[in-house]
Amino acid sequence: MVNLKSIFSNTSPAPPLRVASPKKGCSCSSKKSKSDSCCKAEPKSSGKSCCKTESTMASKPLMAETTGSSSSSTSLNSEVKLCCRGSSEANEDEVIQDTDALVLSKHPDHPANLICEFCRIFYNNGWVTGTGGGITIRDNDYVYLAPSGVQKERIQPLDIFVMSLETQKYLRKPLHYKPSACTPLFMAAYTMRNAGACIHTHSQNAVMCTLLFDKVFEISSIEQIKALPKIVEQGNMWYSDKLVIPIIENTEKEEDLEASLRKAIAEYPAATAVLVRRHGIYVWGETVWKAKIYNEAIDYLLELAVKMKQMGIPTVKLD
Ligand SMILES: [Zn+2]
Repeated sequence: MVNLKSIFSNTSPAPPLRVASPKKGCSCSSKKSKSDSCCKAEPKSSGKSCCKTESTMASKPLMAETTGSSSSSTSLNSEVKLCCRGSSEANEDEVIQDTDALVLSKHPDHPANLICEFCRIFYNNGWVTGTGGGITIRDNDYVYLAPSGVQKERIQPLDIFVMSLETQKYLRKPLHYKPSACTPLFMAAYTMRNAGACIHTHSQNAVMCTLLFDKVFEISSIEQIKALPKIVEQGNMWYSDKLVIPIIENTEKEEDLEASLRKAIAEYPAATAVLVRRHGIYVWGETVWKAKIYNEAIDYLLELAVKMKQMGIPTVKLD
């Protein structure tokens, strides 16, 4: 989990991009009692109201948009959040579109920036090609999500969705994208394991292992296993420990995996990943960095297991 307090302390929020018409049903325009606190979220100089939507949401270079304001992102973000919740009181399903400050930051470790960076890395590793796969990072109650059906290597911070973990309502929803179909599965990792991030790839190594193994993937006595956590105990696994990752069956729609994913997470408390047959893998960790390390270590072991199988070498070392 990224510590945004340290990030925001060195960061300036983005000024508004463009201002368009007031959002339908917005509490700022319809309820004077809410308008005061809501509109305080915006710097006076911005001329932008939190109850207005962007006419377009075209992604712009991040750095160009994040200069020129002296306000603190911490306070701005917290006020934007209050504003959104104030509006949601008027309509639970209402989504505030104009919350760019949630995803615009100069800091490279801001979740929105990390998602973009990781998508490019994962694309280059062949893990999220053809819009497949996804990534999410959580910072306390804020869950940052890459959008659905987007070329992962081209994602920009303004393309990122933000959801409240507590209410599971969107705090930010880009107009021209759909939420990731992986979202309910990511939420399982957050709510069942208190994860700080979750990575979903369509790695061919993962797919191959689901064809070579039955109910679970198993491997032991490989040095790279030491990068993975025991979870049910403190610390990481030992070289000679056996890594076990459950395999669930694929479904036509990604969101329909939720029940079987939750079942696997419950039945394998020591697992930090679940493989999906002929599909890919979900990997999570207590922080975004640990999730990244686990995903890399597991993919290394999956690739090695495929090669061991090809050579007729058991993946679990026999005594
Ligand atoms: Zn998938």
